[in-house]
This record gives sequence, structure tokens and C-alpha cells, in this order.
Amino acid sequence: MGSIAREGKPHAVCIPFPAQGHINAMLKMAKVLYSKGFHITFIHTESNYNRVIDSADRSSLCGLANFRFEKIPADIQINHPPIHGPLWAPTRSLLNKLNEPTSDVPLPTCIVSDSFMSFTLELAAELGVPNIFLCPVSACSFMGFLYYKELMARDIVPLKSESDLTNGYLETVIDWIPGMKNIRLRDLPSYIRTTDPNDILLNFCKDEAQAALRATAIIMHTFDDLEHTVLDALSPILPPVYPIGPLDLLCSQILDVKIKSIWSSLWKEDSTCMDWLQGVRAPGSVIYVNFGSGVHLTSQQLTEFAWGIANSGHNFLWVIRPDMVEGGSVVLPAEFLAETSTRGLVTSWCLQEEVLRHPSVGGFLTHCGWNSTMEAISAGVPVICWPVFADQPTNSRYLCKEWGKGLEIDGNVERDEVAKQIGELLEGDEGKEVRKNALKWKESAVRATELGGKSSLHLERLIKEVMFR
Ligand code: UDP
Repeated sequence: MGSIAREGKPHAVCIPFPAQGHINAMLKMAKVLYSKGFHITFIHTESNYNRVIDSADRSSLCGLANFRFEKIPADIQINHPPIHGPLWAPTRSLLNKLNEPTSDVPLPTCIVSDSFMSFTLELAAELGVPNIFLCPVSACSFMGFLYYKELMARDIVPLKSESDLTNGYLETVIDWIPGMKNIRLRDLPSYIRTTDPNDILLNFCKDEAQAALRATAIIMHTFDDLEHTVLDALSPILPPVYPIGPLDLLCSQILDVKIKSIWSSLWKEDSTCMDWLQGVRAPGSVIYVNFGSGVHLTSQQLTEFAWGIANSGHNFLWVIRPDMVEGGSVVLPAEFLAETSTRGLVTSWCLQEEVLRHPSVGGFLTHCGWNSTMEAISAGVPVICWPVFADQPTNSRYLCKEWGKGLEIDGNVERDEVAKQIGELLEGDEGKEVRKNALKWKESAVRATELGGKSSLHLERLIKEVMFR
């Protein structure tokens, strides 16, 4: 009886890169697979596991027999990859434990890992199961990472000197990356902005992207209509590609309430945000400001943003993580707080997806992390882009120039520009087109994830062709 139960259910072991955005995307994927009949093991690093427990208002560890969280003892700094070394051995030993005859879970039948966790390829091979990568970035950013190798081979990257950062070199147009038109060096994922050929992040991202060529299949967190040109260009290069996003909409389509509520937040969410938004009467009147889990600001940038937001005259919800300001605590000007107390709320972490879906929110000032970008698309909220690093410049370029859904703010934040762009986005003429496009992309995203939509069909194909074969 026990062995029939063990062999009867497919078992996906989900291994995210241990940072918030990556965890969120992987957790949604895990929930989707659970609802399709999979047993799920979801692996956190021990420190993240403890943080999730500490910050849990929602039932983070759901207590379902077939959806289990596991932790691996590994002390890693995500800002200092490669992180694979410390993760490899504990992950391997957990997988072996799951695979033992005495284990009380079904035999693992596939590994679903973040595409920046390529060490799992070897572990999947040892178990004799497919390793499906979940690509946590946009297809266009991933194409950029894939072409790091060629950019280095052509001696375009790394930069020849620090002055290339400011002398116009980054404006160089790269016209030979398949599926990417009019891309400048500055639009590619930012780790090329180094003069060191041995730069850790440059080489880590180059190697991880190349490792994707060895995965069994790749799930892309995007949808056909949004990125079809680059998806078409990726398909002949990569193993089978399945674009199934936006994951939050896919989840809304197929998950029941209990599964939806499983969550893994590394910061404690302030639920009063929703009450505050509820109290704001006018629809579309709030600018929501949030730079995600990894961006840091200088105190000067913080001050410029503060006065830009204040001077716009609009309502705002501004999320500032406690660790957000470089080398110090968050100190907002007292005059700013006094002046905006009736029309603004500053908090430290929120339920972003719920915030974005609230009718009072009219725009999103974002760093353009890919999850935030997809969540803004799903909610039909137009954006102001302030990209900082990693894939953010690529997402920003596409948001503003290809998808017509965003306005940009210069890297050197200035309060006048911040105020102007907020006004423009919420009620200006240029913003009108952007607001219209945001609704258009939302409709397209909803269509993709509905029953019979392209993302839903890709999900069915993925399960049939790769996971159940
Ligand atoms: N997020 C959240 N509350 C916050 C800030 C962020 O729930 O106050 C979530 C957000 O919804 C997204 C993730 O954290 O899913 C951030 O991922 P993203 O890729 O946008 O940016 P990163 O943090 O990786 O830079």
C-alpha cells in the first residue's frame, strides 16, 4: 500500500534562488503544480525559512500533507554569488532523503529549479529525473544574459575603462542579438558595466544562462503576446520553452482559497495599507512607490524621491524597507512627513499584489524587478520606471519603448522630474496613452491565462510533455 502511494503521485521538488522575487515566482509555480495533482517539496534556506516564520501573518507553512516546506542548512549571502557551493551538498542530501525507500513522500519525479541555480542539473541527473528551469526574468532579459558570452567573445564587454560608464559607450546599439531591436548596451542586464573580466556577477550570469541550454525544459514567466519576438528567437536556441505567465493571474484562475493563501514573505507585511487605500475615495488617485527587495538608495536619493512625491501633490503609498538606505537608517525629512500626513502613507512592506489590484492605485513607481513588472501588467497599472541594476534596465526599456506602459526617471533622481512624471502618469496627456496601454496589456494577460488561453495551454503541454512523460 505504502509503495503504491509513493509511486502513484508525481512529486516536484521546487528549488528557488533564495531571494524574495525568485521565491515568489517559484511558490506560485509550486501552487499551480500542486493544484494539478503534484506532491510538492519546496526548499528554503534555513535563514529564509526562519524569516518566513517570523514574518508570517498568513499561513506560510500550510500544513497540507502534499505540500511541504523543507529547509537546508546553508549560510549564504545572495549578494555575493556564486552561492552554489554552500547549497550543493545540503540540497543533495535532502534529495537523497526524499528518494530513500523509507521516505513518507512520493518518489521525486522532477526538479523545478530557478534558472540561476544550475547546480541542480547534476543532482537531477543523479536521481534520473528531468530538471525543468523556471526563468525568473523576462524573456528579453534572459536573451541579454544568454548573449553575455558573445559580447565577451566580441570584446565589447567588459568595458575598457571606467570612463565608458559615462562617455557614451553604453549608448552603443547592439543590432545582432536575435529578437532584440534597437538595444543599447545600457539596456542589457547591468552586470556588463564592469571593467573586470573576472567580475563575479558578470561571469555567474553568463554561465548560468549558458547552463539553461542543458535543462530539460524552460518555463518562462512571461506570455506570448507580450514577448513573442524574443520568445520566437529563444525557441531554436533553448530546450523546449513554455511561457506560462503572468503567474499571479494563472494562480487566480486555478487555485482554491486555501492554496492561494500559502505565502513566503521575508518581511512582515503591513496590512493597514489596505485599510488606508480603502479610505482613499478617488479611484486611480494614489501613486504606489516600491523598489522591491534588493534595491538600496542613498540618503540623497531618498530625499529627492520624498520631495518629488510630496511636490506632485498626489496621494501616495510608499514602501521603504528598513534596510533600504545605504549605510544607515531611513530618515525622512520631518517637513515632508508633516506636509504629507493627510495624503500619504509610508510603510515598510506590503502585500504588493493586493495593493496593485486596489482601485485607488493609479500608478506604480517601480525599480522594474520582473515580478513587480508582471504584477503591474496583471493589474493594469501604468508605471514609472527607475531601474537600478540586474535585469531592471532591460525591463524598463521594454516597458517604456516596446509596450508603451511606462515613463522613465533618470538614474540621478531629481525631485522636479519625479513630481512631473507622477503628474503625467496619473493625469497628463502623455500618461493617457500609457494608461490606455496598461489596460490593453492587462486584457491580453487575462486572455493568456484563461482556460484555453496561450499560457494555460503551455502549462498543460508542459505537464503532459515534460513532467508526466
Ligand atoms: N513585494 C511584496 N511587498 C513589498 C515589496 C515587494 O510583496 O512591499 C513582492 C513583489 O510583489 C514581488 C517581489 O516582492 O513579487 C519583488 O520581486 P521583483 O522581481 O519585483 O524585485 P526584486 O525584489 O527581486 O528586486
